[in-house]
Amino acid sequence: MIPLTEPEIRAAFVNCTKGEAKRLHVPRDLGTRPWDDLDFLGWRDPQALDRAYLVAVPDGRPVALALRRPSPGPGRQRRTMCSVCLTNPVGGVSLMVARKAGKAGQQGNSVGIYLCDDLACSLYLRGRKDAGPGARLPESLTLEEKIARTVAHLTAFVARVTS
Ligand SMILES: [Zn+2]
Repeated sequence: MIPLTEPEIRAAFVNCTKGEAKRLHVPRDLGTRPWDDLDFLGWRDPQALDRAYLVAVPDGRPVALALRRPSPGPGRQRRTMCSVCLTNPVGGVSLMVARKAGKAGQQGNSVGIYLCDDLACSLYLRGRKDAGPGARLPESLTLEEKIARTVAHLTAFVARVTS
């Protein structure tokens, strides 16, 4: 994806208030992120572990989402495969919940997705980050096909949040 600046990222949030978008945690090391190898930029808030954020570029324009990671209730089974990159990383997979954009969000509607806990899907796909033994099932797809599938899954999620 194209490199983004902090103001561009803050301006791209669609499911939180302008004030929240101004205050939320944005990584300081944007200049050294491996943008060429990213299908989306995702990060966790180091001060608030139940918060995560991602920026995708579904139609050439950045769309940023604020996500919450509710703690799993007792007895609830944790799913172990990321529904975006289909990896089962050693670091785990979490249900991430996004408030819907606009009126639907104000009325309390949200949508959820299972994502790699560290949001490093792009790097796992490309083998740039080790997801651990057995984390990825062998597939006959090319890397380009896997990337296309990942982008399609993520774009579909963004569309659910913004629809
Ligand atoms: Zn993933």
